[in-house]
Amino acid sequence: MDVRDLARAGVFNRSIGTPCSCSWNDAAGVELLKTNFYLEAAFESGLFLRITGRQLAEGQLLSQRIQLVALQRPYAGNKFLFLCPGKHGHSLCGQRVRKLYFIQGRWLCRKCGNLTYLARRQHDSRKDHLLRNPDLLTAALQSDDIRRRLLGVGAFAQALARIHRVQR
Ligand SMILES: [Zn+2]
Repeated sequence: MDVRDLARAGVFNRSIGTPCSCSWNDAAGVELLKTNFYLEAAFESGLFLRITGRQLAEGQLLSQRIQLVALQRPYAGNKFLFLCPGKHGHSLCGQRVRKLYFIQGRWLCRKCGNLTYLARRQHDSRKDHLLRNPDLLTAALQSDDIRRRLLGVGAFAQALARIHRVQR
């Protein structure tokens, strides 16, 4: 999501609270993601972009508020940059960026996106381990430990998603 594309689409010219939407399509024209935007203003803390979307695959509803920083000198018709809402441990990323990436259900700067992606890969390797060992998977699904059980369910969902992709 490029702040300049949103500027061109007129997102920043609407008055506070006026909804508008953008969608992202793949090369074949299939809609990958549809997102609704509106501007929010908070007294003293400035201007925000509220992003909402339809239900995601993981089941959570996308709703994220991203702070906007005004550029002192507007460039190419755009007046704003995003302040990345990502977190490194307990501190906020706060990077001023033109582009945010949709990673694991959240909009993040490239750096935070990479970190999330790596964390996810590590997580996935535990699921892969379960999928290669049906006995372990069964044991995880029947485990008394909720985290173990969720990992099993996650592994199972991942396997189903793969089958679905192969069929398409
Ligand atoms: Zn960031």
